[in-house]
Amino acid sequence: MIYEINETHDPNLKSWVESANDPNTDFPIQNLPFCQYRLSASPDRGYEHGVVIGDKVVDLYRLFAIGTFSRELHIELGEDITCSATVDGIADNDKNLIAILRRNLVRVLSEDADALTRDRVSGCLVPIGDVTFEMPFWIGDYTDFYCSIYHATNVGSMFRPDNPLLPNYKYVPIGYHGRASSIVISGTDIKRPHGQNRSDAEAPPKFIPSKSLDYEMELGFFVGQGNELGTSIPISEVEQHIFGVCLVNDWSARDIQAWEYQPLGPFLAKNFATTISPYVVTMEALAPFRTKAFERDADDPQPLDYLNGEQNQKLGGLDINLEVYIQTEKMRAENIEPHMLSRSNTKDLYWTIGQMLTHHASNGCNLQTGDLMATGTVSGPEKSERGCLLELTWRGTEPIDLPSGEQRRFLEDGDEIIMKGFCEREGFRRIGLGECCGKILPAWGS
Ligand code: CA
Repeated sequence: MIYEINETHDPNLKSWVESANDPNTDFPIQNLPFCQYRLSASPDRGYEHGVVIGDKVVDLYRLFAIGTFSRELHIELGEDITCSATVDGIADNDKNLIAILRRNLVRVLSEDADALTRDRVSGCLVPIGDVTFEMPFWIGDYTDFYCSIYHATNVGSMFRPDNPLLPNYKYVPIGYHGRASSIVISGTDIKRPHGQNRSDAEAPPKFIPSKSLDYEMELGFFVGQGNELGTSIPISEVEQHIFGVCLVNDWSARDIQAWEYQPLGPFLAKNFATTISPYVVTMEALAPFRTKAFERDADDPQPLDYLNGEQNQKLGGLDINLEVYIQTEKMRAENIEPHMLSRSNTKDLYWTIGQMLTHHASNGCNLQTGDLMATGTVSGPEKSERGCLLELTWRGTEPIDLPSGEQRRFLEDGDEIIMKGFCEREGFRRIGLGECCGKILPAWGS
């Protein structure tokens, strides 16, 4: 079932953590995303599990240990607090526990909390500036979909002008298995990959650093509860298997991709790096920003029955704004602010994240807690809504002018890509997904 809007989404809720009440913060008390972090000053200490509010991280383990939570939550988590207080432990539980935890967090962080609670809980707060974020989950598997029909049509029309969209597209949420080992957290530098380039169709391919390095603006989502091998996840139950969302940059080397992708799809063009944001915004926090599934053209087929759920059609979509910015080395040197490349929205995806997950498990494939799924590049119908350079520059033929006087067809060394996500709706508090950043370093040997 999709989470309902409740008192934790009340726009009038405020926190005694003052920075959470800043109208521009991504992390008001209505959000409370999960994260894992280390104290930057003591990097040898292990990971801590936290929840972000304003410019602070709440140390979840310490919060459990001081006993501020309800009896109900302590009973649910039992003796095994150190284990259960991990994000994995909370995610791999039924939906009820996450909801109880959210209510408890809101209670102890709200401005209505009594002085004693505030005093004790403030001992569990760490300034964001003092932490280094780590991967929010241990990611066992990563799958990338291709669910924006605008992206698929644009890319298809560059390669197959007469037949941009293949006949399976409106039936199958297309995806491929990505690589989990090369997923990195926001802020990690990305080394330009080498690969086979066959831009000269008359000559054999050359093994050189990629000349057309690109980003892809995607929404990621984490599996909460998994499913046993040989079982599937019905569309009517899929939401309780989704823990929350993050931002994903699926770095892509277009020259490597163009040569290698047939017949088995993406491989080395994609698996050298994927960057994710460190904050997992829970499905309950997103409740006010749910929307209907993509409205199909009258002559489009309806989803097959196993992908067609009443509630999924009504509320399975997500209204999340996604923005991409670039800052080149020259822009940094000249103190020029990052330049916006695109703004798109996940409500334009042809398939909902629930349909993606149900489809993924529909053959009996077992999904596991912490598995990362990504939607594929989120592009909209307008030119300003294209979520990668391949589309924005039309395969490099229409370069982008930057405020520094530079032009870009694809990414140059020193370029930083900054992705942001946020939700806004009349009558509700704005919440954000934070940032997902990465800077391109020269290829080895360069
Ligand atoms: Ca992708």
